[in-house]
Amino acid sequence: MENEAVTKNFIEQMIDKDIEEGHCRKVVTRFPPEPNGYLHIGHAKSILLNYGLAQEYGGQFNMRFDDTNPTKEKEEFVDSIIEDVAWLGAKWNGEVLFASGYFEQMYEAAVKLIRKSKAYVCDLTPEQIREYRGTLKEPGRDSPYRERSVEENLELFENMKNGKYADGEKVLRAKIDMASPNMNMRDPVIYRVAHMTHHRTGDTWCIYPMYDFAHPIEDAIEGVSHSICTLEFEDHRPLYDWVVREVGFENPPRQIEFAKLYLNNVVTGKRYIKKLVEDGIVDGWDDPRLVSIAALRRRGFTPESIRMFVELVGVTKSQGAVEYSMLEYCIREDLKLKARRMMAVLDPVRVVIDNYPEDKIEYMEVPNNQENPELGTRKVPFTRELYIEREDFMEEPPKKYFRLFPGNEVRLMNAYFVTCVSYEKDSSGKVTVIHCTYDPETRGGNFEGRKVKGTIHWVSATEGVPVEARIYENIIDEEKGVYNEEDGSMNINPDSLKIQTACYVEPELAGAKSGERFQFVRNGYFCVDTKNSEPGKPVFNRIVSLKSSFKLNKAKPAEQ
Ligand code: ATP
Ligand code: MG
Repeated sequence: MENEAVTKNFIEQMIDKDIEEGHCRKVVTRFPPEPNGYLHIGHAKSILLNYGLAQEYGGQFNMRFDDTNPTKEKEEFVDSIIEDVAWLGAKWNGEVLFASGYFEQMYEAAVKLIRKSKAYVCDLTPEQIREYRGTLKEPGRDSPYRERSVEENLELFENMKNGKYADGEKVLRAKIDMASPNMNMRDPVIYRVAHMTHHRTGDTWCIYPMYDFAHPIEDAIEGVSHSICTLEFEDHRPLYDWVVREVGFENPPRQIEFAKLYLNNVVTGKRYIKKLVEDGIVDGWDDPRLVSIAALRRRGFTPESIRMFVELVGVTKSQGAVEYSMLEYCIREDLKLKARRMMAVLDPVRVVIDNYPEDKIEYMEVPNNQENPELGTRKVPFTRELYIEREDFMEEPPKKYFRLFPGNEVRLMNAYFVTCVSYEKDSSGKVTVIHCTYDPETRGGNFEGRKVKGTIHWVSATEGVPVEARIYENIIDEEKGVYNEEDGSMNINPDSLKIQTACYVEPELAGAKSGERFQFVRNGYFCVDTKNSEPGKPVFNRIVSLKSSFKLNKAKPAEQ
């Protein structure tokens, strides 16, 4: 490809160099989630980045759960994560892997470090360990247990494993350097006692490895060549390298950090989403207003749109947030040619065409997508009574209002020209019926030589079907930002969900299947909700409106 060197991101450039210099024979990457919550759009970036690199270099992508902390982990999350990764289209090599599958090897690695005098059992309490660690300005102090003999350490560590101690009574620490300017290197804890049942290994173990010790070993066992993680682990890299070196792995993996993906005014943190779920502000982790993968899927986003989004965002080492409108841009682009364009009236008012025969039904042949003839055509029933959008009629229109008003002629999309002759109101002043006449000569709406400025959509009142539509806005009050600085709570937008129960759609849409997506002309893209729809009674989630404030050129973040 032309300009290939220029368009490669900094990770690809590092991998190229490793291959060139003979450090890497096969590119192996992994996605290592902790099964303690649902995945969100940020994780999608990590998944697609790791999978994409493995594909690009003809390598291997592993799916591995980092399940070394039994307090927070659950099988429910394992299942949802597998479903989400598969849905995004990332294909992992072989079986799904689990860090807990390597507990035996991790234990042996720890014993090896003890034998090398590179690890010791420490009896300090967690508070004391913190105190001894020093600060960024001051070096730490050696633990009084640091110089225990290899034999004593071996025995104590075995006792830890055999359940002789209570939680927190003893830990195993790496013996590195209590004066290191990097706090992570000041004899970090690598094993702790925790009498807990693990979701996979049950009660086999009562000691569990810490993340910084376990992760490099998991990577090394699997032959991962490039261990890609987010920036907050940059300071942990020396420890990562120390572990793989001291445990003695050949061809150790290399850790590379990139910037996390953040969206402005969008809640991604597990803790906050959990709060929204627990407070009943949203309808579960897959509420369509959230950006968990499950929520985006339910809202109607496609894997293709998320892949496009992640690609547009790019991979950098500089932190920055992108706009949600960029994600909206991607789903519009993806559905533009794929989705059928149907007519749906979300806020209906009745129209009667006085000069149209009462029991007549005409079927109008309508293209499913004007820009993509491959989607074919369909037949839409036209009758004497119709619904149009309430906002498409005005009793007293302002200037430049080209839709329906008394005396004005408009084009009913794909049907006839109609002229408003009168209207009726109820006692509250609300318009209840609009009377029109139609011109039989204008069938198809493409009558030449007559000036009609407005085109509005409609649904037959007698043949159309009533459905529910849900219109979403940001769950966050964008004026105020996500977090309330005073008390750390979230600034909730009270109007983020609008339920429209009496919408009318073309009869064909009564049979729309769960997860099916459509464009409703002038109203946006919609997807049939997978949770609340029933056969013959679809509920439509609005994925996105048709209007866009997003400019592609402006949004592209600067390349590293
Ligand atoms: P969170 O706290 O936001 O839910 P996490 O880091 O606790 O995320 P893990 O399960 O530990 O979630 O993460 C799995 C992988 O996803 C890690 O490699 C992590 O670096 C990556 N990841 C997490 N959040 C993001 C993000 N916002 N952007 C890109 N990658 C991310
Ligand atoms: Mg985490």
